[in-house]
Amino acid sequence: MTYMNDWFFLPFFIFGWLPIIVYTKIRSIPEYFEKRFSPATRFLATILLLLYMIGYVGIGFLFSRVNIQDYAAVARFVYELVKKEKPQALHKVNIQYRPLRYDPNLHDKPFAQAVTSEQIQKTVKEVRELADSSSEMKAFLRNQTNITAVLGGNSHPPHEFSRCYYSQSFRIVRANGDLRPCFIRVSEPDFLTGNIFQDPLESIALNTLYVGACRKPYCDLHGCRQCQVNYTFEQGIKGSLLPSTSPEVIADRMY
Ligand code: SF4
Repeated sequence: MTYMNDWFFLPFFIFGWLPIIVYTKIRSIPEYFEKRFSPATRFLATILLLLYMIGYVGIGFLFSRVNIQDYAAVARFVYELVKKEKPQALHKVNIQYRPLRYDPNLHDKPFAQAVTSEQIQKTVKEVRELADSSSEMKAFLRNQTNITAVLGGNSHPPHEFSRCYYSQSFRIVRANGDLRPCFIRVSEPDFLTGNIFQDPLESIALNTLYVGACRKPYCDLHGCRQCQVNYTFEQGIKGSLLPSTSPEVIADRMY
């Protein structure tokens, strides 16, 4: 819950779901739906839960100094395990690596769990070796993981910026259609810029402009893990950064 920043669920759980479980003596969600509605609703709830559970498997690996040595090994383990036990389901597996993020309130304190640059270099070497072990493994790592996340480390060098440019050109669309300005603010209520199924594009555009300009709490050099991107935008707008002059970029601006 801390990671998801979803503490507002806690009262619903303690005062809603927990008393229901204790006083009605139910043991499963489908059972609750039968008591509350009907056997047909229970059947439907069971089907939906099964679909949710057997559809796709997402595996999260939260990395820091203490477990970075397992970074590449986890991908190898999952790949080999699924390939051996259930090869037909391999395409359903996805591994997402996430850095342990330090509390922006403590930015002036040492972040002891941060990975070191030596650890990053060692891990990159291990990932390269793993990718080179077979073409299937390379495709798995590229298409079903974000294994390059280690390059960002989990302590970021702060950069000053005056507003959020990143959110003006990037969106996260969640499964229910909710739009978020960045991967950092995927669950905070303040950062919902609209819903693509329900809201007019004009109000989504206005909310997006607002998030970009208002500098909400922690949208700063310590709280924003994209601060270097915002800084780069800012330097480009000021004219301190110029486009690449390499032949490939001149030939294709989207290179
Ligand atoms: S955390 Fe950074 S990228 Fe996300 S909305 Fe705030 S300033 Fe923009």
